[in-house]
Amino acid sequence: MTKLADIGLIGLAVMGENLVLNMESKGFTVAVSNRTVEKVDKFIGGRGFQKNFIGTRSIEELIASLKRPRKVMLLVKAGQAVDDFIELIIPHLEPGDIIIDGGNSYFVDTIRRTKYVESKGFLYVGTGVSGGEIGALMGPSMMPGGSEKAWPFVKDIFQSIAAKVDGGVPCCDWVGSDGAGHFVKMVHNGIEYGDMQIIGEAYQVMKDLLYMSPDEMHEVFKKWNTEELDSYLIEITADILAYKDEDGKPMVDKILDTAGQKGTGKWTGSAALEMGVPLTLIGESVFARFLSAQKELRTQAAKVISGPKPKFEGDKAQLIDDLKMALYGAKIISYAQGYNLLMAAAKDYNWQLNYGDIALMWRGGCIIRSAFLADINKAFDNNPALPNLLLDDFFKQKIEAAQAGWRRVCAAALSNGIPVPALTSALCYLDGFRSEWLPANLLQAQRDYFGAHTYERIDKPRGQFFHTNWTGEG
Ligand code: NAP
Repeated sequence: MTKLADIGLIGLAVMGENLVLNMESKGFTVAVSNRTVEKVDKFIGGRGFQKNFIGTRSIEELIASLKRPRKVMLLVKAGQAVDDFIELIIPHLEPGDIIIDGGNSYFVDTIRRTKYVESKGFLYVGTGVSGGEIGALMGPSMMPGGSEKAWPFVKDIFQSIAAKVDGGVPCCDWVGSDGAGHFVKMVHNGIEYGDMQIIGEAYQVMKDLLYMSPDEMHEVFKKWNTEELDSYLIEITADILAYKDEDGKPMVDKILDTAGQKGTGKWTGSAALEMGVPLTLIGESVFARFLSAQKELRTQAAKVISGPKPKFEGDKAQLIDDLKMALYGAKIISYAQGYNLLMAAAKDYNWQLNYGDIALMWRGGCIIRSAFLADINKAFDNNPALPNLLLDDFFKQKIEAAQAGWRRVCAAALSNGIPVPALTSALCYLDGFRSEWLPANLLQAQRDYFGAHTYERIDKPRGQFFHTNWTGEG
């Protein structure tokens, strides 16, 4: 009898190929398939040569080659292709079989698909897979959610291929029902946008205010990667700054300054607006990418609108230290805000999220992996009901210590006309969050003035609403 595969995969593009190679290297047999069938032949005769793969040329053949319960994983372009494949797969399944979507699907789609697939008698898993193509091959961070009954059947494969931290803890655990896994992956991507933006802002301050060369900046990032900021993104920034083009000049200087995106940052920002969560740093990071994309308009504006010529007369080494504090402080804010979004979603969608475990899933394999996530894990271990990361003793002390340098960086950047939207908005959030009083009393008065929207009074119990006839008319 021919050997049956442990799992089937549809989608032999960069992520799919690397993920199945990872599975095979851990001892699993994988049946593979792709819309364009020639890619199956190419893979089986190429990277998959003489390995435990079963190449299949149709959905029927793929499903017939799987052990029961059948597990069919999709790693195809997010969107309609996932729905199309679900329709193609369903007629060939038996009760209890599992469809897995490992792409970057929108969590609302995953909620809908979980209900739909379950209504047909099958199980559905929507899993975030982070770490890009290298992560997929070497060990990604995986964030699975959906039909909980599927977890015991996919756990071994997922945890075997996931990245490991602390001598073997897999960066993968069950996240929650329906779209919870894809929501957590979406917030991960939003945090990634934020981390990248604040690094970019620090780079611009070093470049345009301190007039540092890429080689000098490389040394700073390399050092930062051995301290509090130790993370994958700081590490690759150091590498990028040192990289030379064929002519020996820094590669980074040759890259056009317009940032692309695939939409997950936008989804994170939209979810925050929808749920009423002040996710300012990620929001600013998405807007900063939009502004960067307006290259022609910016080029035009640069010719006609003047601003200060950056000049720094202070202590350069001190400002570099301050920049580290600014990055560290803003990063704490970004994660505090990201976790608040997770908390709001857990309430809205009735997910039982384990925040400490989520930090652990992000500790290795993924783009935002960092030493810092161990501290977040600890904070939620100490208090699983922590309402905001800034109220944890460790982070409270760290944010207090970061403030002075962070404020100096923002002041220097703003007075020299260097845009630091994420660093400043994070600082404003901190100042707003630690303010018992905010000027919303005036705002309520304005709303009441023009729209009779009423207000509460500080000298009356909450819940009693008042209106003033501000103009004395009517
Ligand atoms: P991709 O370029 O997003 O998708 C290519 C795959 O999807 C191919 O197998 C392609 O088949 C199939 N496909 C595209 N449109 C289709 C359609 N209309 N109907 C059926 N099949 C269709 O591949 P990827 O970069 O490997 O990403 C796969 C998934 O992982 C995506 O959801 C992506 O967002 C997510 N992801 C990617 C990364 C990354 O670093 N690339 C990281 C994390 C997550 P053909 O070969 O026939 O064209």
